[in-house]
Amino acid sequence: MTLIPYVAAGLLGLILGSFVNVVIYRGPALWGLVGADRGARGTLWGPRSKCPTCGDTIAARDLIPILSYVALGGKCRSCAAAIPVRYPLIEAFGAATVVLAALVFGFTLAGALAALFFLALLALAGIDWETGYLPEAITLPLIGAGLAANLFDLYTDKVWALIGAAAGYGGFFLIATAYRRLRGRDGLGLGDAALFAAIGAWGGWPVLAPAAFLGALFALLALSARSALSGKPIDPLEATPFGPALCAGGALAFIASRTSLPWFA
Ligand SMILES: [Zn+2]
Repeated sequence: MTLIPYVAAGLLGLILGSFVNVVIYRGPALWGLVGADRGARGTLWGPRSKCPTCGDTIAARDLIPILSYVALGGKCRSCAAAIPVRYPLIEAFGAATVVLAALVFGFTLAGALAALFFLALLALAGIDWETGYLPEAITLPLIGAGLAANLFDLYTDKVWALIGAAAGYGGFFLIATAYRRLRGRDGLGLGDAALFAAIGAWGGWPVLAPAAFLGALFALLALSARSALSGKPIDPLEATPFGPALCAGGALAFIASRTSLPWFA
């Protein structure tokens, strides 16, 4: 195989990852999920990005994914405030997801749409990590897009996709309700249910169980790592954004289901 198309996919992924950073920062304000004024951070399409510390517009030469971050030593050129490591990390993930979609599905419509699915999961993971919300402005269109793609049986049978969306939403809703009855407080949000429905809509119902299993595993690993680093025991009452773990689990289960791993055959 020739590498050039995959390098091009990676470069496109860097640019799209850079846009995912804009969505993660501006989306929650636009959709009223954080205290900031709705227009305070700009729309998804403009104006040009500013440093949140000093307000200076960021120069074009400082907007090159990953390279600018390294060249600036992770600091704003104007005021030297630290740029969160999330920015280059999301750009790298963006590149990785587009290359992965091309490797699994080829340079086809299925590959392009899968890349968009992974980028949407990346944005959801970033927003949940930052704010604790999984905005419906992303999850609901993502459910619709998955069902629309599978109307043509692109990734799975259309009926399996419909069952996947319904079972994903209903399953999480039941667990959240049972949890609330048993523990007297909210454990899982409806945002998690909509995300799970989107995973079912894209991959069909058979991906739901492995996605949930992998998501729980990743969440547990993250909690264990945090506990080991801080030296404090895991606090079961501490709120943990389950979204990022479920996004990763959903993407992996979706890929596994399309690459005929033995337990999906
Ligand atoms: Zn600055």
